[in-house]
Amino acid sequence: MKEIVVISGKGGTGKTVVTAALAYLAKNKVMADCDVDAADLHLLLRPQIKEEGKFRSGATAVVDKNKCIACGKCLEVCRFSAVYSDFTIDPISCEGCAFCSNVCPASAIQMKENLSGQWFVSDTRFGPFVHARLGIAEENSGKLVALVKKKAKELAKKQKASFIIVDGSPGIGCPVIASLSGADCAIVVTEPTLSGLADAKRVIKVAKHFRIPVKLIINKFDLNLEVNEKIEKYCKEDNIDILGKLPFDKSVVEAITAQKTLPEAASDNIKKIVANIWFKLNSQL
Ligand code: SF4
Ligand code: SF4
Repeated sequence: MKEIVVISGKGGTGKTVVTAALAYLAKNKVMADCDVDAADLHLLLRPQIKEEGKFRSGATAVVDKNKCIACGKCLEVCRFSAVYSDFTIDPISCEGCAFCSNVCPASAIQMKENLSGQWFVSDTRFGPFVHARLGIAEENSGKLVALVKKKAKELAKKQKASFIIVDGSPGIGCPVIASLSGADCAIVVTEPTLSGLADAKRVIKVAKHFRIPVKLIINKFDLNLEVNEKIEKYCKEDNIDILGKLPFDKSVVEAITAQKTLPEAASDNIKKIVANIWFKLNSQL
């Protein structure tokens, strides 16, 4: 079983569209959306939810007014100004450090686990799909990514799947590190802009640090041939294989608008390029 994680140094490079195309082309696979902060692979896969669960992470202090003796210790120790003068807690400011709970002489403060999001296991027209939704302004998306990956791996093992195709998190922080954990290959999708190149370089550094083989796809390469050349030069110097280059093509937008993947609905030229990308990747795994 091979795990392929599609990443990008930043959002908006076409990462999810490429993931969905690979999800269409790979046989016998499980798909996972680890971009939990802004999940959108479901828009193209149109899942039917079969199983779901709650994701709990972190905690918030809650005061039992009946037990409180108004000693003021919680207000004194809280470094996040989360305790009001009437010794109630502001749940938005509370960082869940539990200091107040530990010093309270009346055992009046309890730490309550936060409900931070939801996970789902779904059926799609291409096979099983594990995805999640992080609550608004919730943190710990790295932990939710790890949970999504764990569930996808369990499912893939059970179904004897040949591939896990993962839509990774953007950026270079904790969620992307969690997305990359245990991957056999990272595919970086970039676009021909200087910021796109800079972000791709940063995320490639992260993947290389974890000794994950990296390959690259340039999306809309013909929109800036000068920067495209810079990306190709960088890949040559750093020994990064370019799997393929997708030109700007309005059929891509039309396919996305129709909630279809590129092999289903893009132009013949795009379909051919995407099929070649998968053929090349599959033969190298
Ligand atoms: S430390 Fe406990 S008893 Fe003292 S004010 Fe806070 S909640 Fe009340
Ligand atoms: S748990 Fe920490 S952050 Fe929250 S109210 Fe208590 S001391 Fe403040």
